Amino acid sequence: MKHLVQFSTGLSSAEVAWRLTAEHGKDAVVLMTADTLKEHPDNWRFAREVVARLGCEWIKLTDGRTPMQVGRDRKCVPSNRMPVCSQILKRELMRRFLDANYDPATDVVYVGYDWSEPRRLATAQPFWAPWTMDALLARPPYPPDLQELFRSRGIEPPALYQYGLAHANCDGFCVRGGQAPWRIMLQVDRRGYLEWEAEEQVSRELLGKDVSILRDRAGGTTTPLSLRSFRERIEQQPSMFDEDDWGACGCDMPGDGAPSPGRAQVPKVERWDGAGWIAVPGRVAA
Ligand code: SF4
Repeated sequence: MKHLVQFSTGLSSAEVAWRLTAEHGKDAVVLMTADTLKEHPDNWRFAREVVARLGCEWIKLTDGRTPMQVGRDRKCVPSNRMPVCSQILKRELMRRFLDANYDPATDVVYVGYDWSEPRRLATAQPFWAPWTMDALLARPPYPPDLQELFRSRGIEPPALYQYGLAHANCDGFCVRGGQAPWRIMLQVDRRGYLEWEAEEQVSRELLGKDVSILRDRAGGTTTPLSLRSFRERIEQQPSMFDEDDWGACGCDMPGDGAPSPGRAQVPKVERWDGAGWIAVPGRVAA
């Protein structure tokens, strides 16, 4: 029996891996990370330190496209309403890897959802059938402050958490996030924000539509709000944002639309050998 952890390189899934390794031993645990090519370098540092301590197998799956590139291939700007990046770069890729290499009759898939996210788990479980999906942090003993827990273990949490973000994925610039996290990222990483802004602009021009990651709900109506407009608005009036709009992040939730038609990329599968990534050919289902 294998315990297969969807390891986002963040704190919650790291804690799941920690508990499983303590209970079942390192040989029974496999960590799986879907690389969107957008993770923060300090997430990878954190992940390497966790894996070095646990000693279990760590697999990286790479489609080869970024979230915005996938959006262009699907003729959209990815957002909380159209999270095609999570669908294609993470969920579908992870599922193909699982189906090709493990057995749902014996092996269990784990996610890092906690007690505050019962809806995420309930929504995700049917999508993953026949795989059994478990979320250790969703039931007692509930996790303590994970940042402090990992510090007590001698591992500094990923740097992105210090900014108050709920999730540390895709460099802090998750397309499912709302105005509040995007404002934080504009403040702490203006260069990164401008890169996403430029990417969104490319997609908008290519599609020829007023489509955007963010939405403006001022005045009771909902309209697209480009990253450029959002930045310019905040630069003129710093309080002009919806501080309650945190959006969502659920890279493994269903409901993103139809399965992706065709696949332009041949995914890469690699295994961490303690010093670098080693190619593992032929381990993703067609
Ligand atoms: S973390 Fe956000 S931007 Fe990154 S793949 Fe998931 S939904 Fe897309």
